[in-house]
Amino acid sequence: MAKKARGTRSFGYRIEDRRVAERVQHFPESVIREMTRVAAKHGAVNLSQGFPDFDPPREIVEAAREALTGPFQQYAITWGAKPLRDAIAAKAKRFTGIDADPEANIVVTCGATEAMMAAMLSVVDPGDEVVIPEPFYENYGPDAIVSGAKARFVRMAWPSWEIDEEALKAAFTPKTKAIVLNTPNNPTGKVFSREELKIVADLVTDRDAVAITDEIYEHILYGGKSHLSIATLGSMADRTITINGLSKTYSVTGWRVGWAIAPKTIADAMKRVHDFLTVGAPHPLQIAGAVALGFPDSYYRGLAAMYERKRDLLWRVLQDVGFEAVRPDGAYYIMADHTPFGFEDDWAFTRHLVERIGVAVVPGSSFFSEPEDGKPYVRFMFSKRDETLQEAATRLRKLEPVR
Ligand code: GLN
Repeated sequence: MAKKARGTRSFGYRIEDRRVAERVQHFPESVIREMTRVAAKHGAVNLSQGFPDFDPPREIVEAAREALTGPFQQYAITWGAKPLRDAIAAKAKRFTGIDADPEANIVVTCGATEAMMAAMLSVVDPGDEVVIPEPFYENYGPDAIVSGAKARFVRMAWPSWEIDEEALKAAFTPKTKAIVLNTPNNPTGKVFSREELKIVADLVTDRDAVAITDEIYEHILYGGKSHLSIATLGSMADRTITINGLSKTYSVTGWRVGWAIAPKTIADAMKRVHDFLTVGAPHPLQIAGAVALGFPDSYYRGLAAMYERKRDLLWRVLQDVGFEAVRPDGAYYIMADHTPFGFEDDWAFTRHLVERIGVAVVPGSSFFSEPEDGKPYVRFMFSKRDETLQEAATRLRKLEPVR
C-alpha cells in the first residue's frame, strides 16, 4: 500500500518495494506533469504544465521536415551537431554577449532538463551543498538528490520575491559547490536585477563555487526589460554553466533540444556525463534548431509582445476573480494566493479547481522544500491561445469562496 510521505503532497508517497533504490524515495513524481494528466482526465483547461497549445513558427517546422529527408538520420557528435553549436555560440553572443567557443564550451543535451542534471552530476560530489532560491522549479530538487548534493534553500519572499542578502550569504558554507539560478524565474516570474546578480557573482567567486543558471525564459520578458546573463559579469564566464534550449523560445517543448555553455573543463565533464546519459539529442531537430537560432530580432520581440498580452489577460482575470497574485516580469507563470477562497490548502483548492471549475493549475507546495510553505499558493500558466485563456476565464469566474 502506498503511504503519503509528507504533508498533503499527494504524489510524494513511498514506493513500497524493497527493490526500489532509496534515492528515488526522496522525490515525488513530477506534480507539474501529473497535473497535465489530471487535467485531461477531467476535461479541464490545462494551465498547469508549461507548454503552448499553439503551433511553433512555420519556419522551424519546415526546417525539421527538410532535415528529416537529409543526411541526419544517425547520431550527431555526442555533444551536438556542429551547425547547432555554431548557431548557439552566435546567438549567445548576439543576445547576451557571452563568448562561447563551439568546440570547447558548448554541450547540446536532451532539453534544458538533461543539461541541468548533467551540470549537477559534473560539479557535485555526494555531500557537497548546492544553494537553491525558493520557490524553485521542481526538477532542481531531484537533480540535487540524484547528484548527492545537499540542497540549501534561500527564500525569495512573497510578494516581491526579493532574497535577503544576509540569508543568501549564510546559505553558502565551506561545502557549497554551486548555486542554481533561474532567471526569468519559474514559478515566480521574477527577473533578477543586475545588482542581485552581482551579489550572487561576488559570493560565488569569493567561495570558489559555480553558478548553474537556467535561462530558458531568456526571451520571455515584459516591460521592455532585457535579459542579463550572470556569465557576462566580470570573470563569471570562468565559473558559470549557462543553460538554455529550444523549448520555450520556439514553442517546441516536445523536441527535447537544450544546451549548456560552460568553461572548457566543466564542459568536458558535462560531455562525458551527457554521453553516457543519453548519447545525444535528436539529430534532425538539432539541424532545425540551428535554423531557428538565426531568426531575426523581430521574431523575439514578437514572442515577448505576445506573452505580455497573455500575461495581462490572465492577470486581469485573476484580479477580477479575487486572487492575490504577483504580476510576473518574465516567464509565463503567475503565482497566486488562493486563501481568499477559504480552502484548506493548495491541494484542496487545486482539486476543486480541476474537478468542479475545470481549470488545472499546479499546487504551490510543489515549488517549496517544505510543502507547508507553499500551501497558500497555486501556479497558473499562460502559454496558451487567447481562446483557451478566455475559456479558463469563463470557468474561473464561477469560482466562489467555500465559507
Ligand atoms: N517548465 C515547465 C513547467 O514548469 C514544464 C517542464 C516540464 O514538464 N518538463 O511547467
